[in-house]
Amino acid sequence: MKKKLFIPGPVTVSPDVLEKMGTQMIGHRTKDASELQRRISDKMRKVMYTEEEILLSTTSGSGLMEGAVQSCTKKRAAIFSVGAFGDRWYKMAKGNNVPADLFQSPMGKHTTPEMVEEALASGKYDLVTITHNETSTGIMNPVKEISKVIRKYPDVVFALDTVSSLGGVKIPFDEWGVDIGITSTQKCLGLPPGMAIASFSKKAMERAREVEHRGFYLDLLSLYDTIQKKDYQYPSTPSISHMYALDYQLDKILNREGLENRFNRHREMADHVRSWAKEHFELFAEEPYASNTLTTVRNTRGINVKELNRKLGERGYAISNGYGDLKEKTFRIAHMADTTMEEVKELLALIEELME
Ligand SMILES: *Cc1c(COP(=O)(O)O)cnc(C)c1O
Repeated sequence: MKKKLFIPGPVTVSPDVLEKMGTQMIGHRTKDASELQRRISDKMRKVMYTEEEILLSTTSGSGLMEGAVQSCTKKRAAIFSVGAFGDRWYKMAKGNNVPADLFQSPMGKHTTPEMVEEALASGKYDLVTITHNETSTGIMNPVKEISKVIRKYPDVVFALDTVSSLGGVKIPFDEWGVDIGITSTQKCLGLPPGMAIASFSKKAMERAREVEHRGFYLDLLSLYDTIQKKDYQYPSTPSISHMYALDYQLDKILNREGLENRFNRHREMADHVRSWAKEHFELFAEEPYASNTLTTVRNTRGINVKELNRKLGERGYAISNGYGDLKEKTFRIAHMADTTMEEVKELLALIEELME
């Protein structure tokens, strides 16, 4: 039985969007391919609130995260981590021989503007990475405040992981000075996994020109230069199937639902799950930093999460256990993409019934 997914990616995909994945192929060096890719970029600029260039990559989000740290660090990267995905960015730097330092917040805490200020004031760094929404802990960082600090350092390229929040929360890239804002298809955008999308500012592009070893497949400058030269065509064969589905889903997001409505729906679902969590358990995150796209619940009643999820599975639902060391100590309920309040309410009622 197919389960309704309340896990933080991949999400359940609407049947009409899924159907677009089955569209017959076109050549990736055709005018139609150029038009498709340009259309997607124009629409993504709206979702990302940016005037900058858009890069598409046939990888999951991690691909463009790796590409960002590798292509745009000339001196040293300051990697801020509030959990597994911040740590991952540090591993990517190390694995590619990119000089980097890791600044970890205590488990369950956010990145503070003060931490960022202290690191950048050293003058050692020319790239900073921040996680907007940490999916392992359910923390949403105060990026607006952090961005004010980063702005004071014009030589620093600002890379932001918005993989589990873009499309569910308003993230004004240009207003916040984001140079490379990265997301994947399988979370709040509501598509199958397999494609990553990033904004790429002039500043990031100029930096990349000064970096000698940028890799090959994930070289963001090569993606950028190729789409300029070849009318939005990419150096390697992209997942054209994803592009059809993305083009269609972006129309639904922008025109059928509307961004404001979509963000409101995510906030309402988050408010509802948070009050439910506080009534029956506790929130793992401090409330001002609790994510609007997933909720991490502290398992204060000592329920068997694995068993609960097995029983939910029999009824056609799936949630996520805690991440890593937080397994059984917490569990996670995602409320993202095209999930409705009605579905959230059904899930919570079922959890209550199964806990009795
Ligand atoms: C899922 C996720 C990633 C990794 O994205 P993939 O598309 O799985 O590579 C990175 N960061 C965050 C915050 C995520 O939630």
